[in-house]
Amino acid sequence: MNELSNEETHAANEKATPIYDSLIPWEEGHPTTEHFEVVETGDERGRGMKSKTAFQKGALAARLSGVITSHVTINTIQISPTLHFHDPWFCRFLLHSCDPNLAIDVTTLEARATRDIQPGDYVTIDYRATEDKIEFQFPCNCGAENCCGWMHGRLEKPSKDGANE
Ligand SMILES: [Zn+2]
Repeated sequence: MNELSNEETHAANEKATPIYDSLIPWEEGHPTTEHFEVVETGDERGRGMKSKTAFQKGALAARLSGVITSHVTINTIQISPTLHFHDPWFCRFLLHSCDPNLAIDVTTLEARATRDIQPGDYVTIDYRATEDKIEFQFPCNCGAENCCGWMHGRLEKPSKDGANE
C-alpha cells in the first residue's frame, strides 16, 4: 500500500478539501469543498447541501462512499434490500425533493445530475428512489408539481398523522 492520505492528496490544492472523513479512502470524484457546501436552510429542514459549481445534466456530481451498515438512520442510503451506507458527511445533507436534481446509482455509488445544476442550487435526491423505509417520515414542501406532500419510504405506509387524505 502506498496510497496518499486525503491530506497529502490535497495539500497542493487548498480549495479542494475532501468532504469525506479521512477514514474514507480518497477516490477521484469524491465531493470536496470546492464543489459543495453545507448551509443552514433557515427552516425546519435544518441544513442542506448547495452546489458551488455548475453541473450539466447527466454529469457526475459526486462519487459517494460511506460505511456499510445493516440499519437505517437519517445518515444512510439504502444500497440493497438489507444493506445501507452510512454517510454523515455528504449524503446526510442531501435534502429530499420529489423532483430532485441528483440521482444516486446504488450499484456504482455515483450521484449524477438529472438536470442542469447552477451554483447556489441545493442538491437534492428523491428519498423514495432508494429507501424502503426512512427513520422519520415528514411533510414535504419541496414545491415540485408532483410533490408527494408527505415523505415516507417506498415499502411503508404513511404514518397515521401524516397520510395524504
Ligand atoms: Zn415534495
